Amino acid sequence: MTRILVVDDHEDNVELLRARLAARGYEIETARDGLEALERVHARAPDLILLDVMMPKLDGIEVVRRLKGNPELPFIPIIMQTALETTEDKVEGLDAGADDYITKPIDFAELEARVKSLLRIKALQEELATANAALRRMSQTDGLTGIDNRRHIEERLTEMFEHSARLNEPLAVVMCDVDHFKSVNDTLGHQAGDAVLRQVADVLRHTAREIDRVGRYGGEEFIVLLPGANLDDAMAFAERVRERVAGRAFAYDGGEVRRTLSAGAAAWPHPEIRHQEALVHAADQALYVAKETGRNRVVAYDSPTFRAHVRPEAADGAAAAAR
Ligand code: GH3
Ligand code: MG
Ligand code: MG
Repeated sequence: MTRILVVDDHEDNVELLRARLAARGYEIETARDGLEALERVHARAPDLILLDVMMPKLDGIEVVRRLKGNPELPFIPIIMQTALETTEDKVEGLDAGADDYITKPIDFAELEARVKSLLRIKALQEELATANAALRRMSQTDGLTGIDNRRHIEERLTEMFEHSARLNEPLAVVMCDVDHFKSVNDTLGHQAGDAVLRQVADVLRHTAREIDRVGRYGGEEFIVLLPGANLDDAMAFAERVRERVAGRAFAYDGGEVRRTLSAGAAAWPHPEIRHQEALVHAADQALYVAKETGRNRVVAYDSPTFRAHVRPEAADGAAAAAR
């Protein structure tokens, strides 16, 4: 039922409006001054407000300003009731954010028409808001797997990196890539490949904590952001994912297929990692080393394995120095 909040300090007015509007099928709530009106709206937002301008405590103009200035509230149409016929009065109400006004004494046919018209606008507004939210979700989600898409996960990383830098809290990134994934497509078909990707995303989602974010970074490459995690935490996470993937079969329409996964982990703070791109790049380099050193494994950025592979000269130099 459509709920209208009638705000007026005159008992007679309130009762008249209540009777008329209730007869039209609206559910009526009332408030006797501005403060009470605000309380009622915050307790349960009505579908429309019929608001008197001149009231004790908090006048109608101020009520409109506060309600329309509150981004937490949904769109609630407000009709101001002004006793004064002056243009200035109407302009002030509309300027404050009222959606319409009606002059006293109230012509009920007119009031009813204005109420209906605003409720139509509110319904449209709500449809738009729902469609917008759906579009926003779609623009942030990878269609195949339902996890964050690359653009969105990069936005999240920006937020997380800023947050970590501000509070001096660690932040880890894990990059994963399915091993020999192309052969799934080549031998079992693209549909089977898609099924594997969806299930790998599920493994990541279920292994991640609530505060972690999982995203699809490229074709069969995934990224996980782990706020508050250091390199050891990230390695433990990646190792769990690797085990779970290696230990199961992926179902597709027609059978099951097994695949392994390689991962690279990196964490901030690290002397060579000064910005988010460097953090992702470090995890990516570690993933590359995991691939190069045999796949189905997890490598940490700047670990001995990593250094031996990426900077063999330095390792040789260290070995020479030790001799
Ligand atoms: P490696 O072990 O080195 O990672 O080998 P790989 O075969 O997994 O990697 P490669 O990069 O050679 O192949 C990745 C393949 O992933 C190629 C591409 O056709 C496929 N791919 C990318 N996106 C999708 C997708 O959305 N669905 C399916 N089915 N395949 C995809
Ligand atoms: Mg691969
Ligand atoms: Mg790849």
